[in-house]
Amino acid sequence: MELKDKLITVVGLGKRTGVETVKFLDKQGAKIIVTDAKQEAQLKEEIAALRGCKVNFDLGGHTLELVLKSDLIIISPGVPTDIPLLQQARSAGIEIISEVELAYRFCKAPIIAITGTNGKTTTTTLIGEIFKATGRKTVVGGNIGRALIQDLPQLEKEDIVIAEISSFQLEEIKEFRPDISLFLNITPDHLDRHGSFEAYIEAKRKLLMNQTQDDYIILNYDDPIVRKFADNTQGQVVFFSQQEELTEGVYLRDNKIVANLLGSKEEIIDSKEIGIEGPHNLENALGAVAASLLMGASKDILVEILKIFSGVEHRIEDVATINGVRYINDSKGTNPIASTKAIETFEPPLVIIAGGKDKGSEFDDFAKIIKEKVKGVVLLGETADKIEASLNKLEYDSIYHVKSIQEAVKVATEVACGEGIVLLSPACASWDMFDNYEQRGREFKEAVKKVDS
Ligand code: ADP
Repeated sequence: MELKDKLITVVGLGKRTGVETVKFLDKQGAKIIVTDAKQEAQLKEEIAALRGCKVNFDLGGHTLELVLKSDLIIISPGVPTDIPLLQQARSAGIEIISEVELAYRFCKAPIIAITGTNGKTTTTTLIGEIFKATGRKTVVGGNIGRALIQDLPQLEKEDIVIAEISSFQLEEIKEFRPDISLFLNITPDHLDRHGSFEAYIEAKRKLLMNQTQDDYIILNYDDPIVRKFADNTQGQVVFFSQQEELTEGVYLRDNKIVANLLGSKEEIIDSKEIGIEGPHNLENALGAVAASLLMGASKDILVEILKIFSGVEHRIEDVATINGVRYINDSKGTNPIASTKAIETFEPPLVIIAGGKDKGSEFDDFAKIIKEKVKGVVLLGETADKIEASLNKLEYDSIYHVKSIQEAVKVATEVACGEGIVLLSPACASWDMFDNYEQRGREFKEAVKKVDS
């Protein structure tokens, strides 16, 4: 792909993706326009990061005539693909791609791409650790860590990319074709952005759209939507399952992970020896085993890393045990399914802190697991009343409303009364009260440290 002297518009100047895309385009000698709905004053840091790059800024909205002159448009994952600017550019025949697509076009190394509603970061990080341990040059990025465009163009054929891919990043891919795609699960999420569950499923399916019989598609057999992806694809399908002993693929027998792949069948590890806790993490581990073996990692390295990998910050993270109460930070539990899995990980007595930004989720099933296992619910944020309404339907009444995460920790500690677990797993996004889930998790951890004082 030749970018020299091409007029390229970058829509959305995010710190991670937008800025890095512009830097790459500048090095390639492209003529760059950056357009963003935000005003210059709101983008100071990003603009400062581009010092030295030749860029034409179009901020505080978009100038259609300018953008329509572009040879190519690159959109950041935060930008909805149906804004009028992009619709008009599309009708004018201008190619629109995402940063993931751009990075792919400049990449020589094989790619394992991981998607799903929940478990992406955990699984991507785990597979990344496995390949780092093999000694192979390994880039872990995409929806986590660094933007792919920063690293992929520098890689060689013998290196490897482990990419976490979100549904947003998939919306504008064209040729992107991973050597291995891994689908963990699909449940309703981000409906505010995708419009409907069907549209969200279709966005996810795009990951396998360009795969051929030379590529592998790893699917979770236990997820009915993911399982069906096998019906309509060119790639070689490999299933994994916690529930069924498969004739081929990766599955459990007497709680041991068995891999029957590439014509050989072997026992990998007893699931009790795996470092990450809970049935959902076993799902992540099964997917990681399949992807790693298919991409040539040895069983010994796989087993070594599965034993020592203890998960990623803000995902069922053990914070402390104080006065008999164990505090768990699952701030990344940002939808009801993720938080249900977090609750399923632990034995009662449990107190949960939940609530946050409304993403259009349904909380009736979430209320059921609470009714079954949770002794008290501390609610905060925009969705507090919506969650309470679902709990009321079940006549669950151990509900406490609070205004801050600090107050939530205080109240939850009182309700726990010296035993069991206090679990922050909000089932919602964080943006109503925090910059992001990381800030929410950090504030929770800070508040826990003060419990004793
Ligand atoms: P993602 O990157 O897809 O958001 P993470 O690995 O960051 O996934 O995990 C997010 C949250 O989802 C975790 O805090 C945990 O509660 C839950 N979770 C992790 N793995 C799974 C899974 N396989 N199925 C359902 N929930 C999961």
